[in-house]
Amino acid sequence: MRGTKTMAEHTGPIVAGTVGDDVLTVHKLRVLDESAGSRRAVCDAGKPGDVTDEWARTVNCPECLAIDTE
Ligand SMILES: [Zn+2]
Repeated sequence: MRGTKTMAEHTGPIVAGTVGDDVLTVHKLRVLDESAGSRRAVCDAGKPGDVTDEWARTVNCPECLAIDTE
């Protein structure tokens, strides 16, 4: 009997950062591929290919804050 839950494939660590040209909105970014620097805002902001920057700042995107990522 297996007791291990299967996690979603895109589950990775969460960091704070910005997406694309909007450097004022700090999102929760899920790290999809650390080696490739691939991150995606959990609120789905921006486009899949948008550049993301990791910031040591507090998340202020209301949509991201409304999504429970724990
Ligand atoms: Zn967001």
